[in-house]
Amino acid sequence: MSGHVVVIGAGTMGHGIAQVTAMAGYDVALVDTSAELIERGLARITSNLDEGVRRGKLEQTHRDAALAHIRSCTSIADAGPGAFLAIEAVPERMDLKAAVFSELERHTPGDTIFASNTSSLSITGLQQTTSRPQQVVGMHFFNPVHINRLLELVRGAATSQATMDAAIAFAGRIGKDAIVVNDSPGFATSRLGVLLGLEAIRMVESGVASAADIDKAMELGYRHPMGPLRLTDLVGLDVRLDIARYLHAELKSDAFRPPALLEQMVAEGRLGRKSGRGFYDWSES
Ligand code: NAD
Repeated sequence: MSGHVVVIGAGTMGHGIAQVTAMAGYDVALVDTSAELIERGLARITSNLDEGVRRGKLEQTHRDAALAHIRSCTSIADAGPGAFLAIEAVPERMDLKAAVFSELERHTPGDTIFASNTSSLSITGLQQTTSRPQQVVGMHFFNPVHINRLLELVRGAATSQATMDAAIAFAGRIGKDAIVVNDSPGFATSRLGVLLGLEAIRMVESGVASAADIDKAMELGYRHPMGPLRLTDLVGLDVRLDIARYLHAELKSDAFRPPALLEQMVAEGRLGRKSGRGFYDWSES
């Protein structure tokens, strides 16, 4: 795996992906649509690294070296030549991701791997947008990327074994614990996580127990770090509703049918932490 890594999108996920990749010693070309957006991503990386130094988890020299590995690019034409891997983290729209892949095809070597950080789109569908389907793989990172160890690797119908092997090796190099999942709606993470959240909402709806007690059941009884309803509040009820609708349509299982209570709370603007109220009161935080 010689060459550098291109990260496209310097937002919530892209800046974190660039950071962990640079910390592992890779050269990174970080791409966004304007110099200002890249600067914002770089500022977040710098702040994460400084926090690591302040907490004694990172040497100053390692912090400096990581930053020195990242260069800013406002176009894929600048970033692509010489890359062995390109990871896209642009917004969750198939047309945007297809456009990025098409630019990458024009400006990267023929064997560059194209990875997508999509949280829900079909990897097999993305493969159909490029002439290099065997080199496309899902690389689903978790927020915050520099802290969460999981990397969900998604194998599309056309992904070659060589691509999977390279993705697994890369995950190891950047210190992530990889799981390999065949392309399927919601992959492994969202499908199970959302299912638990929806069932917990149905339990509140039918008066089985309070939200706090349902969460405590999972936290203490099953040792989940956070109960499914508190987690739903953090993710955002509107986001969860969109995913539930998508999985219900794709998997055709009643288990994913959005509960009426979820629909109602979203309609009332009770979106969780970001709106101050969901299953819990967040107005103080
Ligand atoms: P974001 O909106 O924070 O960042 C997206 C960035 O991409 C923006 O800075 C935007 O300017 C940039 N961008 C848009 N078009 C571009 C282009 N053509 N070229 C270069 N840059 C471009 O979004 P995000 O939350 O980082 O999500 C990115 C992807 O990661 C999505 O597919 C999302 O589903 C997935 N994801 C998000 C999370 C999360 O917790 N936010 C978790 C896992 C996966």
